[in-house]
This record gives sequence, C-alpha cells and structure tokens, in this order.
Amino acid sequence: MPLYEYLCQDCGTKFELLRGMAHADDPAPCAQCGSLRTGRLISLFAAVSDGRIVTGPAGCAGCSAHSCAACGCHR
Ligand SMILES: [Zn+2]
Repeated sequence: MPLYEYLCQDCGTKFELLRGMAHADDPAPCAQCGSLRTGRLISLFAAVSDGRIVTGPAGCAGCSAHSCAACGCHR
C-alpha cells in the first residue's frame, strides 16, 4: 500500500498516511490539529529529485501511469 504525505494548511504539520490508491485524494485529518484542510504531497521521490515540492501529477518514466505514486515503480 502506498505511503502518502500530507501537509496541513492550518498548522503546517506534515504527516504520512498509508492508504489505498482509491483513497489517496480523500480528505486526510491532520495528525496534529485534526483539520481537514490538508493537501497531499504527490511524490516524495519527485520532491527529492526536483529539489522542490511537487503538488501536481508527475509523469512517470518507468511506466504509463500518471505518477510513480500510482504505480510504485520508484521503489
Ligand atoms: Zn494541522
């Protein structure tokens, strides 16, 4: 199951959740303050290789999926 990273827009806390792909974009309650105003950080791999946080879908070189987070090929 993929590990997704979320950022709380209310308190700035970053937290991670293990959840199925079908639920990746569901509202994720903040681990710190419980706010539902959180955004998913798409791919830790893309963030590291780019040197910045990528908030949109990233192309995957290894497959035809929309992102490596969807196919897991970057493991
Ligand atoms: Zn929060």
